[in-house]
Amino acid sequence: MAQKVKILETEIDCLTQKEVVEEIASLISAQEPHYIVTANAEIVYMAWQDEKMQTTVNNASIVTADGSGVLWAAEELGMPLKERVTGIDLVYAICEEAAKKDWTIYLLGAAEGVAAEAAKRLIERYHCNIIGTHNGFLKDPAVNQAVLEELTAKKPQIVLVAMGAPRQEYWIVEHMHKLPPAVYMGIGGSLDVISGNLKRAPLWMQKMSLEWLYRVIKQPSRFKRVLALPKFTRAVKKQKKMKS
Ligand code: UDP
Repeated sequence: MAQKVKILETEIDCLTQKEVVEEIASLISAQEPHYIVTANAEIVYMAWQDEKMQTTVNNASIVTADGSGVLWAAEELGMPLKERVTGIDLVYAICEEAAKKDWTIYLLGAAEGVAAEAAKRLIERYHCNIIGTHNGFLKDPAVNQAVLEELTAKKPQIVLVAMGAPRQEYWIVEHMHKLPPAVYMGIGGSLDVISGNLKRAPLWMQKMSLEWLYRVIKQPSRFKRVLALPKFTRAVKKQKKMKS
């Protein structure tokens, strides 16, 4: 069991990306349903504000530190994490390992055609076995049912769900126990980036912890979501004060 670092009420696993991939291998061998949450500051704050989300995050088999805000908070609270483990980097690392271990993957999420294009690119790059894709707009119960039937028939070992938080986490916990055992992971907007529809922030911005700024510039509708960041910072500082 990995050491955990508690930020607000979220327990983050102190693991490197390589260690997360090793953990995923054990979860796959266990042949039980498991899910992974890649927690950035927005998700940690969202969970702190919402009991259902908090329970969902803390019941995950692995919670990774997705984002420099989470690394900063851990440092601030005197319990530094090993490294940032983002959803998108994990997708690449999983696909690389999947090619070696013969794992089967299903991509679920984003607008029509995006998951299929992302799958094409991942297969070209890693030669991994992606056995199906579907868009992430499942409001129509008949469409949702068709996806459940496809997953039941194809039995992927890994299901990457790209519907944004908390929708993807809620979809996973609602359905995973009715499906063949698999490791599920919410990956937010990763398929938009992998498919080439959306650019990821340049490396210098990622290194300067400015990925959030890049995303707001590219998608101004995200502005409201960024407002959670100063609230997160204040809450962490308060937690630090209470600890000392
Ligand atoms: N999306 C989806 N189903 C929905 C609503 C959204 O599949 O019902 C997709 C949307 O197309 C986008 C992703 O979910 O690809 C949300 O990405 P966002 O950038 O908001 O996620 P984040 O990385 O911030 O969690």
